[in-house]
Amino acid sequence: MEKIKQIYEGKAKKLFSTDNPDLVIQEFKDDATAFDATKRGTVLNKGIINNKLSEKIFELLAKKGVPTHFVKRLNDRDMLVKKVEIVPIEMTVRNIVAGGMAKLLGLEEGIVLKEPVLEYHYKEDKLHDPLINEYHVKALGIATDKELETIDKYSLKVNEELKKFFDSKGIILVDFKLEFGRFKGQIILADEISPDTCRLWDKTTKEKLDKDRFRRDMGNVEEAYQEVLRRIMDI
Ligand code: 5GP
Repeated sequence: MEKIKQIYEGKAKKLFSTDNPDLVIQEFKDDATAFDATKRGTVLNKGIINNKLSEKIFELLAKKGVPTHFVKRLNDRDMLVKKVEIVPIEMTVRNIVAGGMAKLLGLEEGIVLKEPVLEYHYKEDKLHDPLINEYHVKALGIATDKELETIDKYSLKVNEELKKFFDSKGIILVDFKLEFGRFKGQIILADEISPDTCRLWDKTTKEKLDKDRFRRDMGNVEEAYQEVLRRIMDI
């Protein structure tokens, strides 16, 4: 499958049309941004690592009954995916307090939550992806009741499966962000799942193995991403 024309460029990925109107190619870049792109940089090989990790995770989730946009990985940086209309909600799932939740509620990072917390953030960088609730989603027609029900159900299922999976690799799944899209009337999981979109801590040392190393200038960002890849691929 060949790239025909670039149709979108985001912070970490580009999208290209193909000769099939239902399919697009998602190219993973090494560019890294944080704090609504006020901090910019590159992480060597990040695109290659995130492409492979997302492939592995999408395959696992499909087997567990969560439909995704993933079709196949084409090469190091390119993945063939279904062309969706993105629902403008960044769905955050949290198991442990960190990042935005620690700040919002004045809590220490690391508090284990009694149950997963689902948060909807309206996907709009200019507004810093503000936290909204289900009333906003429904009243503004961002998604229908039925779509939101499906998004919640899949998000909790993704959490359940990925918590188990990462745990078996010695990694704690602290929190993550998902994006969903509409494809032929159905809600499916889209975007990527990688250390860019998840907080991952080593189970024994609690060392951060994710984008917080970039956000917080902790160094060894590529090494941390490589470590996640090594563990996930059992290499
Ligand atoms: P927080 O709301 O604490 O900043 O983020 C919660 C989780 O969602 C973290 O794992 C974070 O990486 C992910 N996340 C939230 N918003 C974004 C975003 O705009 N881009 C990326 N890459 N990840 C995000």
